[in-house]
Amino acid sequence: MQLNGKVALVTGAASGIGKAIAEIYAKAGAAVAIADLNQAGADAAAAEINAKGGKALGIAMDVTSEKAVDDGTALCIDKLGGLDILVSNAGIQIVKPIVEFEYRDWQKMLAIHMDGAFLTTRAAMRHMYKDKRGGTVIYMGSVHSHLASKLKAPYVAAKHGLLGLARVAAKEGAEYNVRVNVICPGFVRTPLVDKQIPEQAKEFGISEQEVIKTIMLKDTVDGVFTTVEDVAETALFLATFPSAALTGQSITVSHGWHMQ
Ligand code: NAD
Repeated sequence: MQLNGKVALVTGAASGIGKAIAEIYAKAGAAVAIADLNQAGADAAAAEINAKGGKALGIAMDVTSEKAVDDGTALCIDKLGGLDILVSNAGIQIVKPIVEFEYRDWQKMLAIHMDGAFLTTRAAMRHMYKDKRGGTVIYMGSVHSHLASKLKAPYVAAKHGLLGLARVAAKEGAEYNVRVNVICPGFVRTPLVDKQIPEQAKEFGISEQEVIKTIMLKDTVDGVFTTVEDVAETALFLATFPSAALTGQSITVSHGWHMQ
């Protein structure tokens, strides 16, 4: 129970990676706020944790809305008694060549990935700074925080941007005992990736199996997908790390696709 007495807020936790992080944190003893655009999904994920004896609260939150983020964070602090760990994880994917990208889709991607990270960080840090009580912020980056792929201009730009935001937040947060790091997963079979496989097959004119083999897993050491559990274990490690020796860093979890 390494997180006994701690409170975590995980965005995009109704599904995929965020859900697995919420579950591992709850198992480690944390009270967890499951913040998601999908309120029914957030409530269902919270109910699953509560049914297993953990403590969780579903919160409706669109991370692109300043009010929703500030209100949702305040609700978490009020109902769960604080906020020690923020995992800014909510995300979507839209794949298109740059010349075909609609401006509104570019803006939507940047709003969710970058504005969402900024707004949730600001709300969490305002609480964590009080009395220098401190805390931990984790961004869900990607191998695409370090590398580029065709068709993913806003995703790659935003995921690179998270490294910059993390470094500034790590510097500013240090005197208040706040650590900030980025997890950079390779491909994980979640709804976000399952949706891309047929889309990429269509764009590149290849089969779905070829998308997996020749694009998604081509550069891994073993041709294996990263799992939500792999990413959740990394998020637990970062949340429980005892000092600021580990701040402003990114950790890649990708079966060797990208080696830092
Ligand atoms: P997912 O689709 O399973 O889950 C994403 C969640 O985010 C959903 O519950 C969705 O409702 C929520 N969400 C979307 N827009 C939101 C908004 N505006 N406000 C609040 N919640 C919102 O996706 P996932 O694969 O678990 O992705 C989670 C994060 O991990 C994303 O940031 C993604 O970029 C990143 N990531 C995923 C992979 C992968 O291969 N799946 C790899 C690297 C990084």
